[in-house]
Amino acid sequence: MHMIQRKKIIIGNWKMNPETAEEAEKLFSTVAKNVSRTKKTDIVICPPFIYLQALLKIRTSKIKLGVQDAFPGSVGAYTGEVSTDMLYNMGARYVILGHSERRALGESNSDINKKIKFSLVAGLVPIVCVGESARDLSHSYFNLVKSQLEECLKGIPKNSISKIIIAYEPIWAISTTLDRKDATPEDAKEMTIFIRKILSDKFGSEVSRMRVIYGGSVNEKDAALFLEHGGVDGLLPGRASLDATKFAKIIDICEALSK
Ligand code: PEP
Repeated sequence: MHMIQRKKIIIGNWKMNPETAEEAEKLFSTVAKNVSRTKKTDIVICPPFIYLQALLKIRTSKIKLGVQDAFPGSVGAYTGEVSTDMLYNMGARYVILGHSERRALGESNSDINKKIKFSLVAGLVPIVCVGESARDLSHSYFNLVKSQLEECLKGIPKNSISKIIIAYEPIWAISTTLDRKDATPEDAKEMTIFIRKILSDKFGSEVSRMRVIYGGSVNEKDAALFLEHGGVDGLLPGRASLDATKFAKIIDICEALSK
């Protein structure tokens, strides 16, 4: 059977960091300098909204910008919100949706579903996060990830599905989780196979073009393991993306492993 090559992608989620625009510009420029020879890896940085404009002015063809949320609506009376169209018009090309830290603030699968639909119409690539907070002996976490996928992707047309990136992020492995544990590449592999199976049953062969990536305390020391043995098409580092050297190292590792 003909194998589809999926270009690998490394996405940095800066979360609510750093504290000043100067630091944001310095971090971004240093990464840009360090990855100037990257060819085979897509690179995305998702800063807080307010740094977007300044970072877009730093010239680099290697890094695309994304955001960490977007409002599912057109212009109008939505105090405090920023719409998918505004973000696309500003220059953002990706949007992280359904991150566990936003779900913890009350975001539901149906909210995420609306945001995905608006993002696709606006032209933003949704990076949809799924993942369980704990693992149990009866493996019910598979059911949880299945319902997250089904509810978040409800009503998405088959011909749009390949534009979406799924990020598997086991919450128990994220750096800020108390008593966190390391996930293994095998944990990631088992779940990415499961995710692809659920999605193929629902959306068919287009799913072979979709990228499924992994996040959960990935750093420059274990990136190669996850990329080589985790069955994933990329990584979503949080904390490690705030260190230009570590983040660029992860990209170099990915580049070296890409065909
Ligand atoms: C995240 O929360 O998306 C994440 C993967 O963070 P970290 O790499 O810091 O665990």
